[in-house]
Amino acid sequence: MIYSTEGIVINNTDYAEADLIVTYLSKDFGLINLFAKSPRKIKSRWGSSFEPLTYSRISFIGREDRLQRVIQSDILESFQTIRENYKLFLKLSEVLKLFLDILPKREPNIELFSLFLNSLFSIKKTQKVENYTIFLKIKTLKILGFLPDFQHCGVCHNRLNGETHYSQGFVICKNCASGRESSQLSQGVVKILSEMSNWSLSYLERVRISEKLLMEIEDFLKNHILSSIRV
Ligand SMILES: [Zn+2]
Repeated sequence: MIYSTEGIVINNTDYAEADLIVTYLSKDFGLINLFAKSPRKIKSRWGSSFEPLTYSRISFIGREDRLQRVIQSDILESFQTIRENYKLFLKLSEVLKLFLDILPKREPNIELFSLFLNSLFSIKKTQKVENYTIFLKIKTLKILGFLPDFQHCGVCHNRLNGETHYSQGFVICKNCASGRESSQLSQGVVKILSEMSNWSLSYLERVRISEKLLMEIEDFLKNHILSSIRV
């Protein structure tokens, strides 16, 4: 049986002398590992199609319970300008790592696939990355059910109003924060985080987020991803 889909390379790992194991975020199969024969032997379009972020149409064969093998890989967009920009790629690597850490294998999600692909096209065009990486992380966490409730306290479930804290995966009220190890969240962060998960990509592109707020969101996400997801 031959399978065909579109995929974006998330990661590749050397295998044997000249082969690769390539991890894709694919349109029809979600996150999948595939085997690619000899891409490291000669510099070719076949070889470069397995570079991280490359968006390709791929065909592969083999039993589903084994490592399947890529037999065709046609580049639709290389995203080379992103990959070769150290700052952009480094920032995007955080999203790639999040995908590898928390996405279940072989569970397609068209929403996430399209969002990631469209974000890459936008990053390529604007050569800006911060808003997109934050947005991708928030959307990924939301889709997988890892995003905390920003409207209600994670402990007493009362509606959050006024001083808000974060503690071990939950957003909590002032009362519940006393006696617990927690960090206070600014009202701005709580508001934007609760709204952003419902934004569309085109809405994100029309909004200006201050540097300070971006940093606070980054901090929150780093903290939350570490404390709520066991890797
Ligand atoms: Zn509470």
